[in-house]
Amino acid sequence: MTCSPASDAPETDSSAVGPPRGLSPSRYDPDRAGLDALVAEVGETTGTALPTYRVDQLWQGLYRDLIGPEDVSTLPKALRGPLADLLPPALTEDTRSVGDGGDTVKWLWRLADGSLIETVLMHYKDRSTVCVSTQAGCAMACGFCATGQMGFDRHLSTGEIVEQVVRAQVEAGNRRVSNVVFMGMGEPLANYDRTWAAVQRLHGDLGLSARHLTISTVGVVPGIRRMATEGLPVNLAVSLHAADDDLRDELVPLNRRYPLAELADACQAHVTATGRRLSFEWALIDNVNDRPEDAARLADYARPLGAHVNLIPLNPTPGWPTRGSSPARVREFADEVNARGGNATIRRTRGTEIDAACGQLRAERANADSVNAEGSVPVAAPRRRGNGSSR
Ligand code: SF4
Repeated sequence: MTCSPASDAPETDSSAVGPPRGLSPSRYDPDRAGLDALVAEVGETTGTALPTYRVDQLWQGLYRDLIGPEDVSTLPKALRGPLADLLPPALTEDTRSVGDGGDTVKWLWRLADGSLIETVLMHYKDRSTVCVSTQAGCAMACGFCATGQMGFDRHLSTGEIVEQVVRAQVEAGNRRVSNVVFMGMGEPLANYDRTWAAVQRLHGDLGLSARHLTISTVGVVPGIRRMATEGLPVNLAVSLHAADDDLRDELVPLNRRYPLAELADACQAHVTATGRRLSFEWALIDNVNDRPEDAARLADYARPLGAHVNLIPLNPTPGWPTRGSSPARVREFADEVNARGGNATIRRTRGTEIDAACGQLRAERANADSVNAEGSVPVAAPRRRGNGSSR
C-alpha cells in the first residue's frame, strides 16, 4: 500500500491496544489482567479451578525467565500445552546478521501474517541498546529512508513490539539490555496506543527505567503532546534533518502538516512536563542539509529548547541518488553548530556492513522475493542546494 503522509496517512490508530484487526494475540500481547483471564479460561476448559499463583508462574516465565508457556516447568504439564497454543510467539527469525565484531546483531523477523520487520541489538562498553520497530513499513515517506520507500503494511501489536526486546535480551545473555529506542521501522506515534502499551510493559513488567526508553518521531505533534501528559517520563527524540520548512517539507513530508514552529511548541511542552532532555536526529546528506546555513538554522532551532543534536552520517540508501556527507564535513558541521551555542555530537554509525540502516534488510528481501513492486513509494531526490562557501 502506498500512503501519502501529507494527506491520508493513518496518523494515529487509537482503536485499541489490542492486536490490529485480523491478528490473533501473541504471547506478549495480554497484560497481567489478560493473563489472568487466559489462565481462568484454560481452567474452565480443563474443568479445574486454577489457583492464582499459576498466573504468577506464567508471568515469571514470560517476563523474568523469558521463556514461553511450554517451557515453564513450575506449571503442570497439562496446562503448558493449552497456554502455549493460546500464546504463540509473534516473531519467527527470517535472517540474522552480525557485525562490528559481534557487537551489532540485526534481525529480519517474519510475523504471523507474513509481514517483515527489523530489530537491531547494539552492545556498547557501558550499555546494550535495542532498536525496535513499531510498524511493518511506514507511511511517512521520508525520502532518505529505505523503509519510507517501501510504503506502509500495518501497525504492530503491543506483543510484537515487546517480543523484539525479549528476543534481543535472550540473545544478549548475561549482558543486560538496558536501553530501548523506538527508532526502527515505522513511526511510533502513528501507532500510539500499542506503542505506549509496549512502553508500559517494558517499564512495569520487564523492569526497564523510563529514562532508558526513547521514542523517536518525525514530528507527529498530537502524539508528542499526548506523551507529555502520560506521567511516565520517557525520552523524546525528533528526527529533524532540516530546520527550515522548505527543505523539511521535502525531506520529511509530514512537516507540511506540522511545520517547525508547531513542532517546537510541542517539544517544549514535553520538556516542561517531563523534565527529560530533548534530542534531535540529523542525518547529514551531502550538499542538501550540510551547508553552513543549515548548521546555523539548526543551532538557532535547538538552542532555546536545550536540545542535544545527534549528527548521523547518512547510511547509503539503495535507490536514493544522494550520499552522506564526508567525515570531514560532518566534523566541520558539528563545530559550526557548537560555535553557535548548539550542543551537537556525532553518532558513530553501526552495522553499515550488515545493512543496519532502517529498512535495508527488508528491502533486500523484498527485491529477492520480487514482491515489492506495488508497495514501493516513488521517492524524488531532494534538490541539491548551492554549495556552501566553506567547501
Ligand atoms: S525515517 Fe522513520 S518515519 Fe521516516 S519513513 Fe523512515 S521509518 Fe518512517
